[in-house]
Amino acid sequence: MRKQWLMVCLLVSLLPGAVVVGAENAGPTATFDARLEQADTLRSADPATFRELLAELNATTPDDLTAGQGERLDYLNAYALVLGGRYEEGIAAATALFERAQGANMKVRAGALVVNARAITRDFAGGLRMLGKVLPFTRDDIDDANREHVFGVAAVIHNQAGQYRIGREYAERVLSTTEAPRARCFAGQTRLQAMQELKQSPAEDREFTALVDVCEAQREAVVANLVRAMLARKWDGEGNRPRAVAILERHLPEVERTGYPPLIGEFHALLAEYKLAAGDPAGADAHALATIERGGGDFTRSLVAAHLTRYRVAEARNDPVQALAHYRRYAEADKAQLDEVKARELAYQIVSHETFQQTQQIELLNRQNEVLQLQQRVQEQSAQNSRLLVLMLLLLLASIAFWAYKTKRVQVSLRHLAETDALTGISNRHHFNDRAAATLARSARMGEDAALVMFDLDRFKSINDHYGHGVGDWVLQRVVEACATARRDVDWFGRLGGEEFALLLVGADGAEAVRVAEECRRCIAAIDTRGSGYAFAVTASFGISTTTLSGYDLTRLLTHADRMLYRAKRGGRNRVCLYGIPGPAALPVADAHPPSARMDEPVSLHTGERRRATAS
Ligand code: GH3
Ligand code: MG
Ligand code: MG
Repeated sequence: MRKQWLMVCLLVSLLPGAVVVGAENAGPTATFDARLEQADTLRSADPATFRELLAELNATTPDDLTAGQGERLDYLNAYALVLGGRYEEGIAAATALFERAQGANMKVRAGALVVNARAITRDFAGGLRMLGKVLPFTRDDIDDANREHVFGVAAVIHNQAGQYRIGREYAERVLSTTEAPRARCFAGQTRLQAMQELKQSPAEDREFTALVDVCEAQREAVVANLVRAMLARKWDGEGNRPRAVAILERHLPEVERTGYPPLIGEFHALLAEYKLAAGDPAGADAHALATIERGGGDFTRSLVAAHLTRYRVAEARNDPVQALAHYRRYAEADKAQLDEVKARELAYQIVSHETFQQTQQIELLNRQNEVLQLQQRVQEQSAQNSRLLVLMLLLLLASIAFWAYKTKRVQVSLRHLAETDALTGISNRHHFNDRAAATLARSARMGEDAALVMFDLDRFKSINDHYGHGVGDWVLQRVVEACATARRDVDWFGRLGGEEFALLLVGADGAEAVRVAEECRRCIAAIDTRGSGYAFAVTASFGISTTTLSGYDLTRLLTHADRMLYRAKRGGRNRVCLYGIPGPAALPVADAHPPSARMDEPVSLHTGERRRATAS
C-alpha cells in the first residue's frame, strides 16, 4: 500500500507531458501509430483507458511492425507493468529496452522508467546506477521534454538520497529550460524541498505562493499542498506559528481529498506539533493519531514527529505508561527513519564510489593506452632509425664500392697508360722488357724454347722527311696492325722506341721464329700506303735470336737480335737474319746470303723487292 502511494507520486510527478485526451479519439479506425500515440499520452492521466488501449494494441500488432513501433509498444508494456506493481518484470523489460533501443530518446525514456521503478522498490543504488547510464544520452540531440524528464528524475532521486545540493541543481536545470507549467510545478517543488533541507529556503514568501499558483492552475493539488506545508514550516521558523497553523487548517480538507498519505501525514504531523506547542494537547494528539493512521509510511519524518508528539502529550497528562509506549514507538520509528536515510545516503555513496572507481579505471586504462601508444611510437621511431641506419650503411657501402671501382678503373687505366705505347697501343719498351724477362724466366724453368724477333723500319726518316711526321705515325700504326696478324696470342709485342719493335715468341725455335718474322716482313711490305694519301713502299729489317743459342737472358737475346738486325740492314734491308747456325730447313725462303757456318755468326735472309718510295 505504501509502496503504491510512493509509486503514484513518483510516476505522476516525474513522467512528462500528461495531456488528458478524450477516449473518443482512440477509436478502432485510428492507425496503429495514432493509437500508440494516444496510449502514450493517456498513460499517466487516465490509467484505466491506457490499459484498455494497450491491451488492444497488443492484440492488433501488425505483422510489419517497425523497429520504432516495437520499441514504443515495449515501453508502454514496461510502463504498464510498473504501474500495475509488477516492478521487477517492468524493470527487466525497461532495462532490456534501454540496452536495445536504437535512438537516444527511447534510451532516455526506458532508462528513466527504470530509475523510477528502482526508487519505488527502494533500490536507490540500482536507480542511481541506471541514472548514471542514462545521463550521458541527455547530451545527444533528444526531445527537450525527455531531457527535462531525466533531469527531473535525477533531482528527485538525489533529494531522496540526501544529496540536496545535486537535487537542487538538476531541478534548476529543468526550470532554466522549460516553460511547461506542469514541469515547472514539479521541478519547483523539488528545488524548494532541496533548499529547505539545505537550510537555504528563499526568504520571500512569493517564491512559494507563486509556485502554489502554478501547481493549482495545473490541478496538481498534491504538489501545491506539499509547497504549502513547506511555507508553514517557513512561517513557524520565522516565529509566526498562528499563520502556519492557519494555512494548514485551511487546506486540510483539500489535502484529505487528495487521499495521498504522505501529504496527509505531513499536514497532520505539523498541526500536531504546532498545537502541542500552542497548549492544545488534545488537538495535538488527534492530529498525531491521524498521521499514524493515515500518514502511510514507516520511514517518514511525519510518523516520527507524530509519535514524539503523542509521547509529549502523554507526559503532559502525567501518564507514564502511555508515555513509555509512545516513546518506544517514537524510538522505533525514529530508528527506522534514520536507517532509511542512512540506507539512501549509503546507496549514493556506493554508487558514486563505483563511478569513481570506474572513472579511475578508465583513467588508468587511458594512461596504459597512452603508454602503449608511446611505446609503439618509440618502436616505430627506432625501426625508422634502424631503417635509416641500414640505408646509410648501404649508401656508405655503395659509395665505397663505387669509390673502389673508380679507383680500380683509374689504376687500370693508369697501368694501361704506363704499360702501353700511346701511338700503337702495344707494350712500351719498359713493359715489354718486364714481361719478356718474366716469360723467359718461366720458359727457362720449363725448359722450353723461345725466340726474340727485333725489327726496324727501313729508311723511315725519309718517309717522315717526304710525307711529314703524321704520315710517319700512320705508317707506325699500320705496321703494328700488319704484324698483329702474324703473331700468336702468347707472344709479347713491344715498341722498343722510334720505329724499332720486338716480338718474344714462346715455344718457338729458330725455324719457327724465321717463319713468323718472314710473315711479318711480308705483311709490312704489303701495306697499301694509299690510305695515308701517298703511295710508297714500307719495309722492315729483322734480326732474330733464340734461347737455344743465346740463353734465357733478355739483354743477351736483345744484343744478339740487334746484331742480326744491323746485319740485315747492312745486307740490303727488307730481310730476316737469324743468329746461330740454322739448318737450311729453317729458312722459309731463298736467301741472297747463305747461312753462316759459324755459330755466332748471324744468318741473313732476304726476301721481296724494295720499292722506291714515291709520292703518289
Ligand atoms: P734505316 O733504314 O737505317 O733505319 O734508316 P732510318 O731513316 O729508318 O733510320 P734513322 O735512325 O736515321 O731514322 C729514324 C727516324 O725515325 C728518325 C725519327 O725522325 C723517326 N721517328 C722516330 N720516332 C718516330 C715517331 O714516333 N714518329 C715518326 N713519324 N717518326 C719517328
Ligand atoms: Mg730505321
Ligand atoms: Mg731505327
